[in-house]
Amino acid sequence: MDKKRIYLSSPTMHGEEQRYVQEAFDTNWVAPLGPNVNAFEKEMEEYTGCGHAAALSSGTAAIHMALRLLHVKQGDIVFVSDLTFSASCNPIVYENGTPVFIDAEPDTWNMSPQALERAYEKYPHPKAVICVHLYGTPAKLDEIMEICTAHGTPLIEDAAESLGSTYQGRYTGTFGKYGIYSFNGNKIITTSGGGMFVSAEEEAAKKVTFLATQARDPARHYQHSQIGYNYRMSNVTAGIGRGQLLHLEEHKAKKKAIYEQYQAAFADVPAISMNPMNDKGDANNWLSCMTIVKNSKITPDMVMDALQEKCNAESRPIWKPMHMQPVFAACDFFAHGEDGSSVGEEVFARGLCLPSDIKNTDEDMEAIIRTVKELF
Ligand SMILES: *Cc1c(COP(=O)(O)O)cnc(C)c1O
Repeated sequence: MDKKRIYLSSPTMHGEEQRYVQEAFDTNWVAPLGPNVNAFEKEMEEYTGCGHAAALSSGTAAIHMALRLLHVKQGDIVFVSDLTFSASCNPIVYENGTPVFIDAEPDTWNMSPQALERAYEKYPHPKAVICVHLYGTPAKLDEIMEICTAHGTPLIEDAAESLGSTYQGRYTGTFGKYGIYSFNGNKIITTSGGGMFVSAEEEAAKKVTFLATQARDPARHYQHSQIGYNYRMSNVTAGIGRGQLLHLEEHKAKKKAIYEQYQAAFADVPAISMNPMNDKGDANNWLSCMTIVKNSKITPDMVMDALQEKCNAESRPIWKPMHMQPVFAACDFFAHGEDGSSVGEEVFARGLCLPSDIKNTDEDMEAIIRTVKELF
């Protein structure tokens, strides 16, 4: 018999999602926009305290819209976290801007304030800073915001992975001028695909909604004074989001329990460390990750292969840093170490993401832990 598949992070549905989707069908609000979209935005505003939200077709679209609002254009520099998914920086290139990659620091695996300072010495006038909260762990926001404020640079928070994470009691995504969330399939809550742009500025959310619906001027005929996008979330999709949002706290608690179980189980394995937390924050623990001590004979590939073969479990490498990507080979990079040593390269070389699905059973977790421990 085939062994049950253990997932990295798959969608977990509860039933309320279908109720909202059914409502959309019953009222024939299947087309874009409609009551679920408005309600989902309002419920996200209430949950995060972000001020104003615009529901979009993806988190990538939300980053793109944030850069459009800041008028990023040909030749503009944008500082962006290096240890991340390519969606954090691709939209810079959509606007013909130039990404400059800022290394991670070891305490949270997020943007290094030291590397950021050094980037300003060479590029004093970036158009924006895009800071990621990797795997749900909040970045060093105090330090990063202080640097951004000192230089007058707007901060965009890529909170795609950190919905529900807080820093000093406030939700990530609500610190920057603009913030973005993702509801992609494997995120902590999902709409199958979708994203959200958020800002304390009502005008910003309104402008994004306008641009995301083809930038149609208020005229009876179809008139356009700006280039628009078809980036709006649909009313069916938003219904899934409304049902999911009711369970975000529960998902967060289960993700935390998974992290703590791994942490306790590997406490007596000196070669293994778990991904770091930020002691000024409370992470959503979207993915639990481990790193292997330097000079170990065990590699991340060996752990991933063993999980696959012995547990039929899905794991994956740490995001490959952007400065190591062929497509960004020409872009500048600022390392955390003064000697040029990169934290992101280290984490990538020695780390992996463990199965973090909230539907993992006790037996699943025991099998995963046993398999990893047997290697060391
Ligand atoms: C998932 C993700 C995105 C993109 O979100 P989509 O909704 O998939 O477009 C952006 N940044 C990071 C860090 C992500 O993990």
